[in-house]
Order: sequence, then structure tokens, then C-alpha cells
Amino acid sequence: MITLKGITKTYKSGEVSFQALCGVDLTIEAGEFVAIMGPSGSGKSTLLHILGMLDRPDGGSYNFSGKEIGQLPDDQLALLRNHLAGFVFQQFHLLARNTALVNTELPLIYGGNRHLKSRAVDKLRAVGLAHRMNNKPNQMSGGEQQRVAIARALVNEPLVIFADEPTGNLDTKSEADIMGVLQKLNTEGKTIIMVTHEQEIADLAKRIIRMRDGKIVKDERRELPVKAAVSSNGQDTLSPVDKILHGKETLKTAEFMDHLRQAVTAILGSKVRSALSMLGILIGVAAVIAMMGLGQGAKDDITSRLSSLGSNLLTLRSGSHNFRGVASEAGGAETKFTVEDADAIKKLGTVKSISPSSGGSGQLVAGNKNWRTRIRGVGVAYPAMHNAVPASGRFFNEDEEKRRVKVAVLGSTVAKELFGEADPLGHSIRINRIPFEVIGVLPSKGAGPGGMDQDDTVQVPYTTAMYRLFGKTNVDSIEVEVKEAGLIAKAKEDLTTLIVQRHKLSGETLNSFQIIDLSEIQQTVAGTTNTISLLLGCIAAISLLVGGIGIMNIMLVSVTERIREIGLRKAIGARRKDILIQFLIEAVVLTIT
Ligand code: ADP
Repeated sequence: MITLKGITKTYKSGEVSFQALCGVDLTIEAGEFVAIMGPSGSGKSTLLHILGMLDRPDGGSYNFSGKEIGQLPDDQLALLRNHLAGFVFQQFHLLARNTALVNTELPLIYGGNRHLKSRAVDKLRAVGLAHRMNNKPNQMSGGEQQRVAIARALVNEPLVIFADEPTGNLDTKSEADIMGVLQKLNTEGKTIIMVTHEQEIADLAKRIIRMRDGKIVKDERRELPVKAAVSSNGQDTLSPVDKILHGKETLKTAEFMDHLRQAVTAILGSKVRSALSMLGILIGVAAVIAMMGLGQGAKDDITSRLSSLGSNLLTLRSGSHNFRGVASEAGGAETKFTVEDADAIKKLGTVKSISPSSGGSGQLVAGNKNWRTRIRGVGVAYPAMHNAVPASGRFFNEDEEKRRVKVAVLGSTVAKELFGEADPLGHSIRINRIPFEVIGVLPSKGAGPGGMDQDDTVQVPYTTAMYRLFGKTNVDSIEVEVKEAGLIAKAKEDLTTLIVQRHKLSGETLNSFQIIDLSEIQQTVAGTTNTISLLLGCIAAISLLVGGIGIMNIMLVSVTERIREIGLRKAIGARRKDILIQFLIEAVVLTIT
């Protein structure tokens, strides 16, 4: 079954190299029970590892059932190990967190034989552990653990069992038990290759090979091998090796579920560490949500403040937009708007509503209280345009506007200064000595641009302000609400044409009025808040990344810590891919949890 020719193996560590095997020739028949003996360091384990396909020889040929397998790639060797070889180690190497049954099932999972799980039960029964199936390794004696390891080695019906000092860690009674099991397996036709340094143990085998300094020095056969083992393969044209290598396998749901189950077991196995690594992601995700929430909140707040400025608003104002301020006051032409202008504008198709404005300062008197503030004459449409419906009382109506009625709506600061906590509604106040009736109080808006108190104002009908309070014949400005945002450009054009026509403007005087577009300011501010949200989002993303790196670190540590487990899994047939998937699934489960 196995033929080795001129096998060599050299270990290199740094500059020093050591030849552990120096040309080993060996033939092993099916059904043999071979014990490999020799002093420590003679190369027994190295030879066993090469025979068991755990390691590759540097030179020479390794022929298994007629097929050269010495230099096959890792994944193919893993597949062969899984199907052809069963391992029993001195240290048992069971997965500590899993039950005897799960440990025994492991090779089935890697070998794509998960439908044969009932076999694990049979094998455990066969080694006399029917009552121990659901116990974990730490609840079992050394001998029992080693029997689980043997059941695991047998579960895929391998051709050869490789045992490395299988009784090295056991008491005399367990030692006899284990050797009994191995002998029984051999009589049933299994080929067994065992490394031992104890003569009594070796005496139970049928053939003893002695090694020294990397060579076989003695080979004595005491009994002929049992012949039954491979006879069933006799008529097959394909060798067992070829059959295994050509079997196709893909990742199926069942396999995925197995990996998932193992991942969950591993995570539950180290709860504190898993919880701590989850904490990182938890903080990361919480940060993302909190930052996004804060960003959105800030945006909403700013938007609501902006909406008090009004949306889709244009303000028509006297004076040049090229020479604002000083230049225009110093003699530049100014178009003065009239009430008739306002009426004409109101009739434009793109305009929803207008509010002419006429303001000035005024001295307020109520009872024995005095207060100086800004008086704003506005149109009836003002509350709707500025989202500023009175908090109590009412705004003036069209009729009152037309009749220049002396009614006033107070800003909350003014109301407080003049009336304290008392309700000002219905009371009479004097503005610049003219009596007005208080009909409403405006909602509180807080500080506006430049820290100005927006509540320190009084609103009256613009007609009243113009004709009764300030004696003006022109309006100061006209606020125009455009029907929808898309019409703003068109509305600007219409307004310009209208004013130019009505005031017969040309040349220089074309610049004698200006249209201020609030939506531009709003867009700028909205853009700024977007930038702020983005910034917050980036900060949060960084914390999420840090959380992720945390998980990565923990996984890396757990890979390092579990090298032994990974080694065992590979020995029983896991490929690189299987190990990778297992750890990836663990990381993903942690993250999702
Ligand atoms: P045995 O099992 O007979 O005690 P081994 O096969 O384990 O001997 O080792 C044979 C020799 O090879 C020993 O001298 C050992 O130090 C050396 N050796 C084994 N494995 C390695 C390795 N991975 N790297 C370097 N040297 C090794």
C-alpha cells in the first residue's frame, strides 16, 4: 500500500540545517501493524508526519496505492489526509469546548460526509464510550479522551491509522485499553502505524522498525499482515487516491451551518473577550448613529430658523446693488416704490403674495412704562411668508390694512418690557404719542443675524406706518413670495421688467433698485450644514473603523492562541479555505451580534 524510496527531510532553522531523515526506504502492506522505535531525535515523528501526509519530504518518492503523492499541493494532501488517514496523538488534541460527539464528527465535516454523522455515534460506541458522548474533554479521563481521539480517527473509514505515542500520557490500565482497541482494529483489517519508545507497547505490534540518526537500522516482521483490508478495491481501475482527488465538492448550506455552529461555540467559549471586542463595534455603530442624528438635528434646527426668514422670498429695495450703502446714499439714483407698485407686483403670474414694508423707530408708552424699539409696517401676508403667526391674539386683516387702522402686534420682548407677565391683548399703547390697540403677540424667535433681538419689534399695517406714523409716501421695500422655488429666476425677470417699465428706467437709473434673493443665502447655509453632517459622519466612520480594527486584533490574537486547534483541524483534513472560512464566520458573527 505504501512505498517510500530514498526519503530525505532536512530542517533549517536560520543558518543551521539538520537532516532528520537521510534516505528512508520502506514498504508497508495493507493490514500491517507497524511500530516505529528508536531513541529521541532519531526521526520517528518526522517519518510518521511524512507517512501521514502532514509534511512533505525534501527528496525521494512516496507512493500510496500506486500513486505518487509526495509533492501534491497542500489542499490535495488535506483531502487525502481526511479520507485516507486517521491520527491519534500523544496529547489527544481534542477541541476542549466541544463534546465527545462533536469532536468525533469533525473529520466528517471537512470530508464532505456530514450526512454520515450517525457514524460518529457508532464509532464512539465501538470504543466503549456510548455513555460519554455528550461530555466535554475536561470531564473525561486521559484514557477516555484517547478513545474519543481514536473514534475520531476512524470516523471517515481511513485506510491507515497513524498513532504518535498513543499511550505516552496514560496510566497502565488505560494503556492496555487503548492498545486493545488498536489491536482489535488491526484484526478487523485497519493498517496501523505507531511511533513508540516503549518496548512492551511495540511488542504488541506485528512489525517493529528501529530508527537511528534518520535511518532505518532494523526491520523485524513478527506476524503476517491481515489480508482483508483492501481486497474490495481490487477490481477498481482508479486508485483510492485518484477517487478522492477527483471527487467534486462545493460549499453547501449544510457545510456553512457546521462552520457557523463551530463559530458560535468558539465565541461562547471566550465570552468576556467576545464581549469586549463587540464593545468596540458597538461604540463605533453608536457613534455613527449619534453623529448622524446630531448632524440631522443641527440641520433641522438651522432649516427651521431659516424658514422664519421665509422661503422663496425676494426683497425689492431702493438703491443700487453695485454701490450699496455709502455710494447710493451719496447721490446715486434711487427708485422709490409706491403702494401702486406693490399692487402691480401682486398681479404678476409668478408671485404668490407680497408684503410692502415701511419702518422706523418709535417710542412706546403703556401706562407708566416706556420702551424704544423698531416699528415695522408690514403687509397682511407677512405672517404666512415668515412663518410668524402670532402666538396669542391675531394679526391685522386686509380691511384694517386698507383702512390704516391703528392696531399693533408686539414682539415678545416688547410685550414683556411694557406689560411684564400681564396679558397685553386688548390694551392700548402709544407709539410716538399715537394710540394703538394691541391685537396680538408674535412668537418668540430669539437672536437673529448679528445677535440682534428679533423679538424687540412692533408690527403694524404698513399703510398705518406710512401715513400715520412716519408720514411717508413711499414704501421702503417690498417682500415678494414667489409661487415655487423653480420660478425664482423668472420672477426676478418679471419684477425687473415691471419696475423698469413703471418707473421708465434706462441707462444709469437701471441700477437704482435691487432685488435681494434670500434663497441664495438659504442654499449657502444648507450647503454648510451638509458639510457639517458629512464631517460628523466622517468622525463616526473613523470610530467604526477603530471598532473594526479592534475585532480584527482580537481575531488575530485568537488565531495565534488557537494555533494548536488549527493544526489539529488541518491534521484531520481541513484545508486553508476551511480554516479561513471558520475564522471569517466567527468575525462576522461577532460583528453582526
Ligand atoms: P523523534 O520523534 O525520533 O524524537 P523527530 O522526528 O521529532 O525525532 O526529530 C528528528 C530531529 O529533527 C530532531 O533532532 C529534531 O530536533 C529535529 N526536528 C524535528 N522537527 C523539527 C523542526 N520543525 N525544525 C527543526 N528541527 C526539527
